[in-house]
Amino acid sequence: MRGLMMETPLLVSSLVEHAARVFPDTEIVTRTVEGPIHRCTWKDVRSRSRRLARALQASGVREADTVATLGWNTQRHLELYYGVPGLGAVLHTVNPRLHSTQLIYVLNHAADRILFVDLTFVPLVEAVWEQLDTVRTLVILTDRKHMPETTVPGAVCYEEWIAGHDDDYAWPELDENAAAGICYTSGTTGNPKGVVFSNRSTVLHAMGSSLPDAFPVSADGVVLPVVPMFHVMAWGVPYAAALSGYKLVMPGPRLDGEGLTELMNLEGVTHYFGVPTVHLGLLAHWETSGASVPTLKLATTGGAAPARSMLRAFLSRGVDVRHGWGMTETSPVATVSRLTARHEGLDEDGKIDVLVKQGRPLYGVELRIVDEGGRPLTWDGRTSGELQIRGPWVCSAYLGGEPGSALDGEGWFPTGDVATIDPEGRMKITDRKKDLIKSGGEWISSIDLEDMAMRHPEIARAAVIGVPHEKWGERPVLIAVPTPGGDPSKQSVLEFLEGLVARWWLPDDVIFVDALPLGGTGKVQKTELRARYGGGIGV
Ligand code: ADP
Repeated sequence: MRGLMMETPLLVSSLVEHAARVFPDTEIVTRTVEGPIHRCTWKDVRSRSRRLARALQASGVREADTVATLGWNTQRHLELYYGVPGLGAVLHTVNPRLHSTQLIYVLNHAADRILFVDLTFVPLVEAVWEQLDTVRTLVILTDRKHMPETTVPGAVCYEEWIAGHDDDYAWPELDENAAAGICYTSGTTGNPKGVVFSNRSTVLHAMGSSLPDAFPVSADGVVLPVVPMFHVMAWGVPYAAALSGYKLVMPGPRLDGEGLTELMNLEGVTHYFGVPTVHLGLLAHWETSGASVPTLKLATTGGAAPARSMLRAFLSRGVDVRHGWGMTETSPVATVSRLTARHEGLDEDGKIDVLVKQGRPLYGVELRIVDEGGRPLTWDGRTSGELQIRGPWVCSAYLGGEPGSALDGEGWFPTGDVATIDPEGRMKITDRKKDLIKSGGEWISSIDLEDMAMRHPEIARAAVIGVPHEKWGERPVLIAVPTPGGDPSKQSVLEFLEGLVARWWLPDDVIFVDALPLGGTGKVQKTELRARYGGGIGV
């Protein structure tokens, strides 16, 4: 017997319709690229994304066509998040931090027809314009007054472009499995690969990531997503925001600690989403200036392993922390770690032990760890294996591939991460497969060693790489950034670690640097560290 309930498709457009009907006057506040603070409401976002959809149609964009953006977190980018998939086209958010050859590659590979760009990135586009095969129109996300001179022929002013269209527009009833968005992986090896989110996966991910044990924010919340809209759809926050009807505060291009603190206090931000690099900037500002954000209740971190000192710094200021894990291929939110009532009795270190884990899978996401032969391993919190994942917001193939072609024979997506899972389903990433260090036939977890090194009072950031070794195959080398004013010696670091890790885990060398090289998404570039410092020991 078939169920007799309505088969309402899960569409991105339904989110903005809901927000405009139920939370019409809730604000979206943007620190604009042009400078001033801009205020609008969910009702305005609906109206303007409908006008945008009409403008796109008038310029020949049809269902399944791809449209690209190079933009900061702003209200105009939010309109694109709704207007483009709403009409059935596909929103390709491009990371402006990509190398220009990769920028050209992804725009051509996705066959984008129109490119929407913030003022900041116009020079970037000018430099590659001649090499773009499919992009015909450049739309600059600004008004007439701020339109720049540009070498790109026929560049269009966004505000004028949508001004000629009214908002009397009914979103089409699309197939919920129609593509809604594309985001490319960073492609540290080979060319970036396109992950294609559907309307259905986008809505389910917004619902799943808003569950009570994930990142729930009610309509009373004031949320600052620092996670960029140009990488994995800002963790789906722009969609979850419409679903829950909270106020969004968009930081535009100013992401430094001082700028963020100022904006948080101006708008009374209660929740904010960022990666460790952003948190460190914010905390350093608080530390040196004595500033605080009394309204802030929760900081959400993800994208890379958090340092214990960072978690401690938030907790000691009364700011709760939730820690998520995911990847572009998982939309991204897949697991979340949080402190539950059961952890209330723990001391601070005990709480941090829970929070550094990547956490439990959300409903909808299934995890397993497997050995090298693909056999499932036990969830005892000690045995580690390659992490695999499946679920309705996990990718099954990359752009251009056959459905299922990114999966193993049993339908699981191999993440390339190595993890343990405890009996309560708490997952802990021990490494990326390619960063694990094999010394004398035994594995050393670079993440664990980094975590230990960062407990040293004079080490702010740490990265551990494996370098070739004549006798052991590979040995760990620690590359560390001292804290401001700190002057640790190699000897003191090794002595400190001796008490914390097995002797054979002790790094063969400790190298101090001013900063670690970061990639386009704020992650430490271990490939670059290996190229610089991985020369080898006795080989
Ligand atoms: P890329 O495009 O580099 O794959 P993603 O943003 O998709 O960028 O990165 C996914 C990877 O980032 C994961 O496979 C994992 O290795 C790492 N990662 C993400 N979140 C965390 C986390 N909370 N802790 C540790 N590593 C993480």
